[in-house]
Amino acid sequence: MQYVSTRGSAPALDFEGVTLAGLASDGGLYLPAEWPRFTAAQIREMRGLAYPDLAARIMAPFVAGSLTEDELLALCHTVYGDFGHAAVTPLVQLDSQHWLLELFHGPTLAFKDVALQLLGRLFETFLDRRGERLTIVGATSGDTGSAAIQAVAGLDRVEIFMLHPRGRVSDVQRRQMTTVLSPNVHNLAIEGSFDDAQAHVKRMFNDGDVTTTLNLGAVNSINWARLMAQVVYYFASALQLGAPDRSVAYSVPTGNFGDVFAGYVAAKMGLPIERLIVATNINDILHRALSSGDYSASGVTQTITPSMDIQVSSNFERLLFDAGGRDGTAMAEQMRAFEASKAMQLTNAQAQSAAALFTSARADQTENARALQWAYRAAGQVIDPHTGVGLHCAQAVAASGVAAAGVPLVTLATAHPAKFPDAVERAIGVRPSLPARVGDLLGREESFIELAGDYATTRDFVLEHAAGSKG
Ligand SMILES: *Cc1c(COP(=O)(O)O)cnc(C)c1O
Repeated sequence: MQYVSTRGSAPALDFEGVTLAGLASDGGLYLPAEWPRFTAAQIREMRGLAYPDLAARIMAPFVAGSLTEDELLALCHTVYGDFGHAAVTPLVQLDSQHWLLELFHGPTLAFKDVALQLLGRLFETFLDRRGERLTIVGATSGDTGSAAIQAVAGLDRVEIFMLHPRGRVSDVQRRQMTTVLSPNVHNLAIEGSFDDAQAHVKRMFNDGDVTTTLNLGAVNSINWARLMAQVVYYFASALQLGAPDRSVAYSVPTGNFGDVFAGYVAAKMGLPIERLIVATNINDILHRALSSGDYSASGVTQTITPSMDIQVSSNFERLLFDAGGRDGTAMAEQMRAFEASKAMQLTNAQAQSAAALFTSARADQTENARALQWAYRAAGQVIDPHTGVGLHCAQAVAASGVAAAGVPLVTLATAHPAKFPDAVERAIGVRPSLPARVGDLLGREESFIELAGDYATTRDFVLEHAAGSKG
């Protein structure tokens, strides 16, 4: 499989190439040159497959030419054999129409593990082949950092420097990063805000002193391999609910548009998806874009769903490119204008094509709390606030009649409630506890380095402690 950039001028790459590259060299994002498609008969044959076997079946066309089917299958068994639930992403029924797809049974209790655990192994496989090493530098306000650290801890050819704003991430989130004591993991607590830490990271990627010595890598959801791994749980859940002979609708708590874009890919591959509900909190740029065509960024407001507090959704570019007819030159132009003015209008083609599959909705804090209360009282389920945004939007769309009656509505449960215990307790009066497998998190030894807030201090620390070099 070959991959092309949304901005049309970067070279096409194979799967190994896009996995190691992350962002395309023209600033665009990589997408498969064409969508592989399964027939209804092929999908029917997937019923009853164990998750790792299904994952290999779904991902095989995307990795063709870079991994053999046996290599892919072995990777899937290694990665998904380690999750805290034998079904990996189990479905839970809430009432006759609503379901939860639990995506939080990985090591850091959020859905990002499903893809990052695989990405770590893919890095190792491809780097081994090339005899290279990779130095990942990232900044985190919480979830992504811990999932990335858990994904690469102990790997031989990858090391990670993760910056977090000192004192500004929750206890659970910090400990999920700092209690990983592998020598290839470096936790840096930086004086300042998340934006300061993020600015250091961006600067390092443009700093010749760094890029001439280190092979730098990124782990955010611009990496195609992450989206690919997320396509699998749409298939897994729809198959259980009767696909391909019955359609299913999904409500997806959305930040960077990665998770819900994976649903779009599943639909392109032939899975009968009736609707994808893009669920946002009050940072609702995507809701505005999909309901009125107005994609314009304003300031970010902090909410009880921090992983969805975003200003610009990087993966939205992938949808605009594909839905708008895959014109890289036009896309590059549209994104240049957006980057200059922080605002753009969707074209008619983009808006119409998106409207065929996507519906958007938003939840404020009161609506979010009501969704948590409903899940608890009606179905005995304690859910996290991100999932609450998704559930509120699923119920709102069901009430408006946009999703046909009789179509199961699946809300993606993106985090375990114990990651956000304060917000959950405020809403339902119950404090969720950590699952037994991570229960001693609060007692484990921590390791992190505290650094002053200036750029040079951070850069020098990375250069001094990085084991990998371009040689
Ligand atoms: C990252 C994250 C999201 C948003 O996912 P995107 O792929 O960025 O849309 C939602 N919920 C939780 C708990 C997350 O960690």
